[in-house]
Amino acid sequence: MYELKRDILYAGHRLRPGGNFRKTSVTIHSTANPMSTAENERKWLDNPANTRDAVWHYIAGEGVVIQSIPDVEEAWHCGRKTGNTKSVGIEMIESGDRRKVIETCAEFTADVLKKHGLSVKNIKKHFDWTGKNCPRILIDPQYIKNGMDWEYFMDRVWFFMIDGEPEKIKMIVNGEKVEAERILKYGYNFVKLRDLADILGYSVVSMGNMPVLTAKG
Ligand SMILES: [Zn+2]
Repeated sequence: MYELKRDILYAGHRLRPGGNFRKTSVTIHSTANPMSTAENERKWLDNPANTRDAVWHYIAGEGVVIQSIPDVEEAWHCGRKTGNTKSVGIEMIESGDRRKVIETCAEFTADVLKKHGLSVKNIKKHFDWTGKNCPRILIDPQYIKNGMDWEYFMDRVWFFMIDGEPEKIKMIVNGEKVEAERILKYGYNFVKLRDLADILGYSVVSMGNMPVLTAKG
């Protein structure tokens, strides 16, 4: 759960070029500032001392997301015209409780994808556009905390994308009909790993974040 605050830059602001562009991706960033909060980052956009041509559509903090540019408009966040016009830029703060920030950003990213009819395949790192070390808190071992890396973030986005009700289905496994529950979404069959493992004769335990399957003896 997060609170979305709209604090849009006024029309004509030097960091708000405007426009009306369909968005085909979401680009994830982190601020490269281990101290600042989402509120600090929003204030910086209005600070006369800020002469950088850099801005984001949204910034995610701990349980809060602030918007500075409307989705349809251009924001200078990934250094290339196609990205700036066609990608929703989401920043993550680097301060505070890292797990909460990633959780907030993942849930919000899922909501943006749904709103624009996009899927997790349409998520990009800033790195993908320009090779910049961003979001460094998810891709650079020097800044990753407790193993919460890009893969972890994507797992959390998946979690928030799959909000459907499971349906009871029959699956054929080795020619045998078995019952299972699944959610069919985004062209994927989501079946509980534990159920699937049971059917195939495996047991599942978790090692940290990683499921480990072992054939039952
Ligand atoms: Zn970036």
